[in-house]
Amino acid sequence: MGMAAQPSPPRFPRFEIPGLVERPEWWRVRVDEIEEAIRAVRQGTVEQIATSANGHPVLAVAYGSPRPEPGTATWASASASGNMAAYKTRTDPQTFILLCGVHGAEAEGVCGAVNLISLLETGKDLRGREYPELVELCGQYRLVIVPCLNPDGREISPDHLCGASDEAFRRASQGVWKDGTAVGYPVCKRYAPLPLDEVEHPGGYPNGDGYNIQHDVAPGDLRTGEARGFLKLVADEQADFVLNMHSHGIPGRVLPASYTSFPLHVARTGAYMQRVHDDLAEAGLEPAPVMDAKGRVAININSAVPLVSGGMAITFEHPATDQFTFDQILEMSYVTIRCCLRYGLEEPFSPREAVARGRDG
Ligand SMILES: [Zn+2]
Repeated sequence: MGMAAQPSPPRFPRFEIPGLVERPEWWRVRVDEIEEAIRAVRQGTVEQIATSANGHPVLAVAYGSPRPEPGTATWASASASGNMAAYKTRTDPQTFILLCGVHGAEAEGVCGAVNLISLLETGKDLRGREYPELVELCGQYRLVIVPCLNPDGREISPDHLCGASDEAFRRASQGVWKDGTAVGYPVCKRYAPLPLDEVEHPGGYPNGDGYNIQHDVAPGDLRTGEARGFLKLVADEQADFVLNMHSHGIPGRVLPASYTSFPLHVARTGAYMQRVHDDLAEAGLEPAPVMDAKGRVAININSAVPLVSGGMAITFEHPATDQFTFDQILEMSYVTIRCCLRYGLEEPFSPREAVARGRDG
């Protein structure tokens, strides 16, 4: 799995927030714990898709049918060719990518991925619970899990932010200048990279070189190996759907589509904003109100997915607050994943003919 090279020691210490409750034993989100979970994989196949700035392997675990055969063209070329099969050589099963830990401080999605891997490997998650419906749905896809795209950020972040103040959440996520003030959001986005010589702590948002991978998407000017490796994975997998798992300071919800989404994906994203909301509400997991689907969420790594594979990508934000228990946060991951898997069977995420023709239904 390419773990031979020694990562360099982190330049910054782990961000500590005094007084947080102890995480439960099954909340396994540290870099060594993620690697341990991946080393135990027997049912799936493991691939290193990148090396982080600090030298950690960035790993993906795939389940189900083999990767589709390559076509004769890229998606961009094929989409203008009148024959989508020039790129998309297989429509069934669809390829579903679960992307977690783009922002290293946001451990909630990473916890969901590590527990989902346990479910798929052993039939039980790390709490010993079984989710036969979820496992069965996963089996209907080629499922590729990237448990942590940003191990550098994860390594210097707390295990969780449950019970942290908003200010501690900001400092742990987006960092602290040398004068002790928080970098904060959206100021953190004025820097790519964040000037590491000017911070006391960079937060878990960026990788070891100070780049926010979520926004590393300029064609011809990618700055991180992590983004490059992930987008290559999306292209090679002919990905139909990417579920990008993040966390914020309010209850859970799906964000509106990013810019450069195809019309069909904008419409689909609006549907998933409502569906995930309804499933969370039904499970008693009190989602945040559904946003206006006509809103747009910047240019980010989701924006690149339609360009490289013709697939759609959505972001789910978990809550990173003390409003919910650790168990509830893990359930939110499961409910969101299950919702997307279920509707994706009823209504394919990205039928390429309709996508390429600019249809919205
Ligand atoms: Zn995030």
